[in-house]
Amino acid sequence: MENFTGHRDPLPPLARSAHIAHAKYALAHLPGSLVDFDASRMAVVFYCVGILDLLGALQEETTELERGSWRNWIWEQYLGGRYGTGFRPGPFMAGTSVNSGYDSPHIIMTYAALLSLAMLRDDYSRLNRQGLLRFVGSCQNRDGSFSNTPNGGGDYDLRNLYSAFCICCMLGDWSSIDVERAISFIASCRTYEGGYGQLPSCEAQSGTTFLAIACLRLAPPGPRPGPRLTPQEQARSEHWLIHSQDASGGFRGRTGKLPDVCYCFWGGAALRILGAHEKINAYAFTQFIAACQFPFGGVGKAPGQPSDPYHTYFALAAAALYTPRLEASVRAYGQWDSITSANLNPLLNATEETVKWAWRHMRVEDSGRRR
Ligand SMILES: [Zn+2]
Repeated sequence: MENFTGHRDPLPPLARSAHIAHAKYALAHLPGSLVDFDASRMAVVFYCVGILDLLGALQEETTELERGSWRNWIWEQYLGGRYGTGFRPGPFMAGTSVNSGYDSPHIIMTYAALLSLAMLRDDYSRLNRQGLLRFVGSCQNRDGSFSNTPNGGGDYDLRNLYSAFCICCMLGDWSSIDVERAISFIASCRTYEGGYGQLPSCEAQSGTTFLAIACLRLAPPGPRPGPRLTPQEQARSEHWLIHSQDASGGFRGRTGKLPDVCYCFWGGAALRILGAHEKINAYAFTQFIAACQFPFGGVGKAPGQPSDPYHTYFALAAAALYTPRLEASVRAYGQWDSITSANLNPLLNATEETVKWAWRHMRVEDSGRRR
């Protein structure tokens, strides 16, 4: 990182091969230390396939047989019912891939499944688009928020709302939800600091602040012309986010907490969307991420911490957003500049190529020929 004399330590090298091995291992065998992830296996698939996508390794380092088996597993979690169609977190309630009747599509897992399929270049020929729109609509509550599952089931918070907005954006169809009511719910989560809490009256957290800011940008135009945030609101959000980067270069999630590599993505991506990305110390940012690499592959939440697919994905996604800001005169990149070719889309949280694929193959208006 840069010290007060302007000297910059070289970046520890990007351990690309070890991160690829970490992702492939977790796709095949979820280790016992990650038992908490078992109830959300679809998210693990998203992180692991996402790591391979960010590292440009899907075509070179995996076989068509592997990619086909991952695609098939995702489609085995696709369920239909009276509330439409979506993806469940995994077969843990049934013990098999058969719908047990107790498990339900989950809106966050549906977002994760659809983007994972785009990374794996699925043609979405098995997707019922109208059923998917009905499912997303059935998760919206009266106050504009969204629940995990239809008809008010599970938690209702900004993670679900963000998933709903991303799905509508990929489908190019917002007709099944009340966008303006959702925007009002987002506004009710805003705090005096300029960040957003998970729910109204909750403390600001940079993860939910990313979700809120991304949704305000993803939303179709509202009744009033212009951006959804006033210049004063935007300035306050930027100020809070910029000051969540501490002296280590890492970002903390809440005021007064320690930095954590996943918040480098949440805070860093929010600042990218706001166009304020040049106001942080990008070299120290990448230095912190590089220092969080675990010696045996993957990235931990902080230096010296064990790795997991969640922190590995968000560390690499964050690095993909910021490495272009390294100065050309600094040659000690340690291959971190190679990850920028992934060209991450900060709104949907996937590479631009993957987002383009989803747009090209998922859109409702283009699907008439196929379904
Ligand atoms: Zn974290």
